[in-house]
Amino acid sequence: AARLLDVRDLRVEFRTRDGVAEAVGGVSYAVDAGRTLAVLGESGSGKSVTAQAIMGILDSPPGRITGGQVLFQGRDLLTMGAEERRRIRGAAMAMIFQDALSALNPVLPVGAQLAEMYEVHRGMSRRDARRRAVELMDRVRIPAAAQRAGDYPHQFSGGMRQRIMIAMAMALEPDLIIADEPTTALDVTVQAQVMELLAELRREYAMGLVLITHDLGVVADVADAIAVMYAGRIVETAPVRDLYRRPAHPYTRGLLDSVPRVDHGGGQARRGHGDRGGHGGHGGHGGHGGHRGGKLYAIKGAPPSPLALPPGCPFHPRCPRAQEVCRVERPPLYEVSAAGSAASASGGRTSACHFWKDELDALDAVNA
Ligand code: SF4
Ligand code: MG
Repeated sequence: AARLLDVRDLRVEFRTRDGVAEAVGGVSYAVDAGRTLAVLGESGSGKSVTAQAIMGILDSPPGRITGGQVLFQGRDLLTMGAEERRRIRGAAMAMIFQDALSALNPVLPVGAQLAEMYEVHRGMSRRDARRRAVELMDRVRIPAAAQRAGDYPHQFSGGMRQRIMIAMAMALEPDLIIADEPTTALDVTVQAQVMELLAELRREYAMGLVLITHDLGVVADVADAIAVMYAGRIVETAPVRDLYRRPAHPYTRGLLDSVPRVDHGGGQARRGHGDRGGHGGHGGHGGHGGHRGGKLYAIKGAPPSPLALPPGCPFHPRCPRAQEVCRVERPPLYEVSAAGSAASASGGRTSACHFWKDELDALDAVNA
C-alpha cells in the first residue's frame, strides 16, 4: 500500500509563563493508505498536539512547530503554499473530535451543515446537497434521517452527534481521517457502536485512519498498528498483535497490565512478571480469556511536566527496569524488527528503551 501520511521528527513547543514546554519532542509515525494507526498515550502525552500540528489547527501562539516534516502523499504540508495546504486539509484530510457539541455549529441544523460541505467543496445545488446530506445521515445510521436533518446538534444524543461528526468528516471522502478520542465521552455500549461504524466506513472507503486514544481497549479490534506516546515522544511502535503479546517497552507493558483486558491473541495470556519482584508475580486469572482481575503492574507516579522533562529516559522515574544509564542517556528509537510486516500501518517495530531486548526476553521466559 502507498504511504499516505509520514510524520518525521515533528517538534512542537509551547511558550508559557513558566518557560518553554516541549510538547512534541521529535515524533515520527506513518500510515499507509487504507490502514489504521492507533496513537496511544495518557492525557498530556502530546498525541493531540501532534494531530493538531498535522491538521494545521495548532493553537498558535502559544504553540509553535519548531521542526520536522508532515508528508501527506509524499508532499510536506509544512512547507507548501497556504492555498494548496488549505485545499488538501479541506478535502483530503478530515478530523473527528471528542466533543461533537463544540465541533458542530450549534445554530445550524445538522442537515444544513452537511449540505454546506457539498455546496462549498463540490459546487452542488442546495437541493442536491441537501439530498446527499440525508443520504449520508442515513449511512451513519441516524434513524429517520430525513426528518432529523432539520434538527440542531443539541437535539441529538451524544452517540448520534458523534455519528453526525463522522458523517461530516466522511462527506468529501477524504484519504485520511484523524479521530481524537472519538468515543471517550460516550457510554461503553455506544462507544462500541460508534467505533464499529468508524471502522466499517474506513474499510468501505479505504481511508487511512489515525485513531488517537488513551484507551487500550478501544484499539485492539480496529487498529493495524499502534504508536505509544509518552512525554511528547513515541516510545514504541508495533503491529497491534505484537504489541499486545510482546510489548517491547516497560511503559507499554505497564499500560497493558494496568487495565483489565480481554486476551486478543487467541493464545495464552501473558502472566505476571516473574523477572521483577515487587510488581505482583503471577496472575493466573486467565479463566476464559476474560478479565484479568487486579492490577499486576500499575504504573506508579505521574507523567512528567513538559516544562521539566527528566534527563535521560523520560520514563525512568517510573520505570521498574531503570538502570543508571537510563538517568543520563536518552534512548533512541531502536529498531526491534524491520518493516515489511503485512499487518503494519507504520512499518516495523521500534522501542525507545535501552533494555528492550531484556524486556522481551523476560516476557518470553514467563510465557515459555
Ligand atoms: Fe526504563 Fe531505562 Fe528502558 Fe527507560 S530506557 S524504559 S528507564 S529501562
Ligand atoms: Mg487529547
